[in-house]
Amino acid sequence: MPRTLLAPNPSPMTLDGTRTYLVGRVRPVVIDPGPDNPAHLDAIMDALQGHAPSLILLTHAHADHSAGAPELARRTGASVAFGAGADGWPWWRGAQTRELSDGDTVETDEGVLRAVRTPGHAPEHLCFLLVDGPERGALLGGDLFMGGSDTTLVAPPEGDLSEYLASLDRVEALRPTVLYPAHGPPIPDAVAAIGRYRAHRAARIAQVEAALADGPASPGELIERVYGPELNPALLGAAEGSLRAIVGHLTNLGRIRPAGAGRVQLRGSE
Ligand SMILES: [Zn+2]
Repeated sequence: MPRTLLAPNPSPMTLDGTRTYLVGRVRPVVIDPGPDNPAHLDAIMDALQGHAPSLILLTHAHADHSAGAPELARRTGASVAFGAGADGWPWWRGAQTRELSDGDTVETDEGVLRAVRTPGHAPEHLCFLLVDGPERGALLGGDLFMGGSDTTLVAPPEGDLSEYLASLDRVEALRPTVLYPAHGPPIPDAVAAIGRYRAHRAARIAQVEAALADGPASPGELIERVYGPELNPALLGAAEGSLRAIVGHLTNLGRIRPAGAGRVQLRGSE
C-alpha cells in the first residue's frame, strides 16, 4: 500500500479527511497534498525524509486536494502536475506547473504511474494507475470513488454524470486490483466496486425517471421525491447537485426535456 497521510480536514464531503499518498521512497511523488495546512505539510515533509519529490501530482484542483500544493512546491522545489483544465485555479501562483495528458507516465522507485483521464467529478480529473512494481494494478482514484461508500459527488457546473459514467467504464477496462480513494479507506475489490458505483447511479437515475412520471419537477422539487424527508440537511446542497447532474445526463440521452420554470419532464409524457 502506498504510504498514506490523512489530512485534518474531516467533513460530510471529505469523510475523515483527504488522504495524501506517497509513491516511492528515493524518487517519490506526492499525490494530492491536501489543504494548505501547516501540520499536514510538516507530516508530508517528515515522510519524505529529505528526498525531494520528482513531482507533486494532483488528481484534480479542488482545494481539499490541491491548496497545499504551492507551499509543498516551495518547500521541496518540486513542480505541480495536473490534468488539462486545472490551470485556471488560483492556487498555483508562484509554483512551477506541468500539464499531464492521458497516458503520460511518471517514474518512481516503487513503480511507474500512468495518468488516466477521468472527468466527471471535475473536468480535469486524473486517476493514476501503477503499471509496474509491487503494487502493479493499484489505482489512485482521487474523487472518482469514496472509500466505504458506493457513490461520490458528481454535481454541475464541474460535475458531469455522462462523463462520470464513461470514466467508470474506462477505469473498469484497466482491471485495477485495488482502489485508493482520496477520501475513505482503500477499496480492495476494485472491479466489483466499480460495478456497485455504476449500479448505485443507475438506481438513482431510475428513481428520478420514476419521480418525473408523477409530473414535471425542478431539481429542488425532486429532492423530496427522490431522497425523502429524512435527508441529512448538511447533504442538501450535494443532493440537489446530484439531481442536477442526473437531469443533465437524462437530457443528454434525450429522455427528458425542459418544461418551463426550471422544471423538466419525461419525453412522451406531454
Ligand atoms: Zn473533489
